Amino acid sequence: MRGGTDRSGATPSPAEDVAPAETDDSRAKPTDALEEGVIQHISNTVTSALLAYVKKVGGDALIDEVLMKAGENRPVSELTNPGRWSVYDDALNLFLAASDVLDDPNVGARAAESLFENGAETVEMMRSVGSPTELFKLTPYIMAKQSTITDAEAVEVGRDFALIAATTRPPFVRHPLFCGYSMSAYSQYPILFGMNTIEAEEIECQTRGDSRCLYRIVWDPMQTEVVTPEQKIERLEQRVAVLSTRFESFEAMASELASATASAAAPVTCSR
Ligand SMILES: [Zn+2]
Repeated sequence: MRGGTDRSGATPSPAEDVAPAETDDSRAKPTDALEEGVIQHISNTVTSALLAYVKKVGGDALIDEVLMKAGENRPVSELTNPGRWSVYDDALNLFLAASDVLDDPNVGARAAESLFENGAETVEMMRSVGSPTELFKLTPYIMAKQSTITDAEAVEVGRDFALIAATTRPPFVRHPLFCGYSMSAYSQYPILFGMNTIEAEEIECQTRGDSRCLYRIVWDPMQTEVVTPEQKIERLEQRVAVLSTRFESFEAMASELASATASAAAPVTCSR
């Protein structure tokens, strides 16, 4: 993953420390407060990525400043809960406030750079599809988990390039901060597979009057990034963590099957 510059002067934190600590607690009860009829536009995975970046730059104090500027009253634990959603205006206000406080018009792109640092399991799942080509083909499904007001389409995907369209439906108006967020996220797909992104460009844009945003990402399928020993260790640790979780699930399932079999009156026969 790309490293960010820690302007807070604090000790650089490992990836899992980037997300606010409240995240884990809130994950334990992901949907208990999702009332019926609550409008869901933007997944809080998006606001979570933004706040992780803000925290990386300036710690909790800067998060407080951004929340105040945005007029945001929800707790950080909710804004970083991947099971929760925000209405579009609230999510946009957070991005606008962060852009203002950090004096960075590209804060959308910066936020997505932190996106894959937060969830080792997400990264492993994305890598498990095998290649950037296969991952880009899944763009509509991935987008559906991020937004209910923007549709994504894998217009054309090849061995070394992808053309991805994103269309925000009226009455919602696409904002360049979200264009930057998408561009940045897509540009990292090849990097997840150890390939270099050669080109990442938004060649059509709704905010410039086009009917859709169209992203072109080109990567080198033969080139493998130089991985430092630290990055290699980090990735191995992530993989072990994910495999441990899966193994525990598998063990639980196996023991359930075993007890079900043991309690059966007759021996189970197998047809093959
Ligand atoms: Zn755009």
